[in-house]
Amino acid sequence: MNKKISILIPVYNEERNIKPLYDRLEKVMNKEKYDYEILFVDDGSRDNTEKEIEKLHKKNRKVRLIVFSKNYGKADAMQAGFDSSNGDVIITMDGDLQDLPEEIPSFLKEIGKSDLVVGWRYKRHDKFLKKVPSLIFNNLARFLIGLKIHDANCGFKVMKKEVARNIEMYGELHRYLPALAHVKGYKVSEIKIKHAERLHGKTKYGANRMVRGFFDLLTVKFLSSFAKRPFHFFGGLGLFSFLIGFVIGSWLFILWLLTGTIGGHTPAAIFSMLLLILGIQLISLGLLGEMIASIKSKEKPYNIKRKL
Ligand code: UDP
Ligand code: MG
Repeated sequence: MNKKISILIPVYNEERNIKPLYDRLEKVMNKEKYDYEILFVDDGSRDNTEKEIEKLHKKNRKVRLIVFSKNYGKADAMQAGFDSSNGDVIITMDGDLQDLPEEIPSFLKEIGKSDLVVGWRYKRHDKFLKKVPSLIFNNLARFLIGLKIHDANCGFKVMKKEVARNIEMYGELHRYLPALAHVKGYKVSEIKIKHAERLHGKTKYGANRMVRGFFDLLTVKFLSSFAKRPFHFFGGLGLFSFLIGFVIGSWLFILWLLTGTIGGHTPAAIFSMLLLILGIQLISLGLLGEMIASIKSKEKPYNIKRKL
């Protein structure tokens, strides 16, 4: 493999993990004679993470560092890393040594066959409270997006640079990178990897990521299915609501014409009005969405695989 490899590592308060991680990475990369760079993104750490990386940079210019002015979160750190990486192939991994550098050669073997390779931590060393939400999401993602891999939110991944270039991440969408890539038509595959316990420091994420993760998943689904045509989503719902309201309303109107009263059907009348208003609101929302989608010209609606 003669391509340049960027290893992208977002770190937040990982001072004690930097040196051991670097030592193991360097050993693997030199043994396989890869052309590489290690790009740390310090996501506003308040410990000595930055100093530790600086020390390494002085020894080895292949170590690069981006420091955030405050803690922006892992997704933004990854995006900054993607934006300034120089490699043809990009490896992302956590900085806490839960992902083993020794797995890199197997990832690189697999990337020849696909566009994005995701690790599958088949024996996960995390707390129960973390594994359960993860399991739910993987199944939900499989169901909603149709991506058949086991561990879609594993941080250890290898991708061709165009995958990273063509996917915009914000919020906590980094966890759905494989899903987003799949939606854009890239070939996503997985390999089994070993997973270790955290060596030093503690996890930055708790069980509360479940709710946010669920919203993110819905966002991915919505973006992939309706972002370009919001009216198809809201318009459909709106029309449905409006029609039912209209049928009930018409029936009450005929009843009133024939008998001069709507009898005890006041609740039905209220319900009908509610549905009519809701319908009009949803349709307007859809049209508004269309306007926003037409203004949002930054992202291309198509994704090119190759040009000759
Ligand atoms: N991380 C980061 N910014 C944050 C939180 C985490 O850059 O706001 C980094 C962290 O330093 C680690 C990786 O993201 O390298 C994964 O975080 P963590 O190990 O806490 O997550 P877990 O493995 O418990 O899911
Ligand atoms: Mg971790």
